[in-house]
Order: sequence, then C-alpha cells, then structure tokens
Amino acid sequence: MTKEREVIAGSVPAELLKLYDKLRGQQGGIGAARLYQRTCQGCRQELAITDINEIRSAAPTTVVRCENCRRILVRTSESGL
Ligand SMILES: [Zn+2]
Repeated sequence: MTKEREVIAGSVPAELLKLYDKLRGQQGGIGAARLYQRTCQGCRQELAITDINEIRSAAPTTVVRCENCRRILVRTSESGL
C-alpha cells in the first residue's frame, strides 16, 4: 500500500493527494485507480463511451473520477483514450 501511494504521489499534483487520501479512507485503502483500456482498475468496470469522451477532452491536470466507484482515475498511455 505504501508503494501504491508513492506511485500516485509521483504522478498527480500535490493538491490531489488530499483528495486521494480522503478517498483512500472511504474505498478500503485504494483512492485511485489506473485507467487501462477504458476499464477502471479499481472496480473493473468498463467506462461508458460518454465518460471516455469526457476524460479524453479533459485537461491533463483535471481530476477525473470513475463514475462507478468514484476513485481518481490515473490516465496512462494504455488508457485506451
Ligand atoms: Zn471504478
């Protein structure tokens, strides 16, 4: 779990970490999830195309959340966007 936090800390702005820590408390220790091939790795739900379009058009600094589990979605080159 410490390792996960380090990964997140290295990839999101500082203010996001507050939200992340809050979510982590609510979501059983996992406040953020990687978006992989249009699927949230937190809840394993494939995002709707409308959500994918929104995420695609969002600025890189915008916090995007999973509509299903509300975790912060971490966008990568493998997100399928
Ligand atoms: Zn999710």
